Amino acid sequence: MKSKLIKKNRERSINSFPYQVGWGFDVHKFTKKKKNLVLGGVKIKFPLGFEAVSDGDVVLHAVCDGLLGAACLGDIGDYFLPGSPKSKNIKSIVIVRKVLTKISKEYEIANIDITVVLEKPRLVRYKKEMLDSLRNIFDIDRVNIKIKSKEGLDILCGVNAVACFAAVLLRRIGNVKNKRN
Ligand SMILES: [Zn+2]
Repeated sequence: MKSKLIKKNRERSINSFPYQVGWGFDVHKFTKKKKNLVLGGVKIKFPLGFEAVSDGDVVLHAVCDGLLGAACLGDIGDYFLPGSPKSKNIKSIVIVRKVLTKISKEYEIANIDITVVLEKPRLVRYKKEMLDSLRNIFDIDRVNIKIKSKEGLDILCGVNAVACFAAVLLRRIGNVKNKRN
């Protein structure tokens, strides 16, 4: 009797605040073996490419990890194993579609806040295009991008890498049961 009451109270407190926060991070190094970059779904001309099993879109990878984290569904490595032939040369938009399919039954995205950290290339002129692309990909207007330099410091793999952080907020659609009880 007592445990039923505790369970009900837990469910009520979970459902009274129908939001879940997630945080994602990703980094990829440059390689001379490839050319051009993809960031936030936008192709960017550059003499180097990303060293990655996929196209190395750090922005989409960080957002996907944030979304999975907010939904308590692990991270993208759980669904696309780095050593698996299925993951080789995979386009990040395929990863996004899988993640959105996983979360969309129970959640909608409230907002996404992205910080890209890099020395080169200069991303400012691509910012608007990246925002449009991300709004389109995730079907939400409330997307924000900040572009930060490393100030010449040897952080986040130094000048030869691009890093990205993404904070996301999901709103639960409908009430959830407390699965631990
Ligand atoms: Zn990645």
